[in-house]
Amino acid sequence: MGKFPVADAEISHTKICRKCKGRNSFNAIRCRRCGYSSMRPKNKVVKRKK
Ligand SMILES: [Zn+2]
Repeated sequence: MGKFPVADAEISHTKICRKCKGRNSFNAIRCRRCGYSSMRPKNKVVKRKK
């Protein structure tokens, strides 16, 4: 989780289009930018720098 709980909640409601990587609402069935129907949930785990 990130620093801001509010931002985390916002991120967890987001899906990313596998084609154009556009952000869509979690309820979206198709990408609103390109119409592609395959989406993944946005990664919640942030990679840490060493
Ligand atoms: Zn797209």
